[in-house]
Amino acid sequence: MIWFDQNKRNLPWRHESDPYKIWLSEIILQQTRVAQGMGYYLNFVRTFPTIQDLANASEQEVLRLWQGLGYYSRARNLHFTAKEIWNERNGIFPNNFQDLLNLKGVGEYTAAAIASIAFQEAVPAIDGNAFRVMARYFNINLDISQPKTRKYFFELGKEIIHPDRPGDFNQAFMELGATVCLPVNPKCEICPVNDSCEALGRNKIKELPVKTKKTKVSNRYFHFLEISDGDNYLMVQRTQKDVWMNLFTFPLVELKENEVWSSNLILPEIELEKKQEEIHILSHQRLNIQFYQAKVSSKQLKIISKELNADIFPMKAINELPIPRPMEKYLMNKI
Ligand code: SF4
Repeated sequence: MIWFDQNKRNLPWRHESDPYKIWLSEIILQQTRVAQGMGYYLNFVRTFPTIQDLANASEQEVLRLWQGLGYYSRARNLHFTAKEIWNERNGIFPNNFQDLLNLKGVGEYTAAAIASIAFQEAVPAIDGNAFRVMARYFNINLDISQPKTRKYFFELGKEIIHPDRPGDFNQAFMELGATVCLPVNPKCEICPVNDSCEALGRNKIKELPVKTKKTKVSNRYFHFLEISDGDNYLMVQRTQKDVWMNLFTFPLVELKENEVWSSNLILPEIELEKKQEEIHILSHQRLNIQFYQAKVSSKQLKIISKELNADIFPMKAINELPIPRPMEKYLMNKI
């Protein structure tokens, strides 16, 4: 704790005791590095200073602010939960670990982080960083991808958590993992617990933590169609339960790995020219993306919009829509 007090990074949410803002920071930091998440956190707090502001926003506004951060289900859950707390719980944030677990998008780690930091409940918050520090410090050879191992770490965390400063204790573990006990080349020489670390003493750092389950990544093949009359563009909202749900894109054709793209597949009446390709990596998916472009008359644009069930937007309005990162990059190249 002395090390944490002297070395903790000065992060904006560390000055907060408001559970709303702590929750916001924890959701933003899931799957996101601090450096990337910081700007998003500040923007959210500025735009929606209270849970009431977030609850009363439209989902489109929330997704737009989240744009570029990825894992958009986090933003949808954030908005859903804000509305639920504001409308059904009189705006009162749940104040303990068990009740926090009932919130959409809040798992064990996030519930424990909020409960300990905002309400000083002595419950361990074990994220990837804390797993690594604990596995090494205590020389635990169990596979952390197994649910029963996670339970083991949780029980161990309950035994060692500081009863008077549980929030700082949890943050200290995470901070140690994020800044000193790094996955590769940990800085053991400056580590505050190097005199009692089992993995260091036994030369087992590279073997820990044990994680056997590899994430299976599947390939998908997306073909985006930029169809415009020069001023107006076709856009569709992705309503299906899939990547980028509720975000807007150009009309999109997805093909199987062995299917060959041809304009005739979808719009034989127009010539689509290939403009750009890129690979976009998500946690479980590798998106192989190609952009095609066609300029048509205003009359044709209206006909095609009906065929593709798309809406027509001027570019200025597209800039206000929540769109996925690859679309954003493509549009940036055009401006
Ligand atoms: S001594 Fe090294 S391996 Fe052990 S907890 Fe510290 S940084 Fe991690």
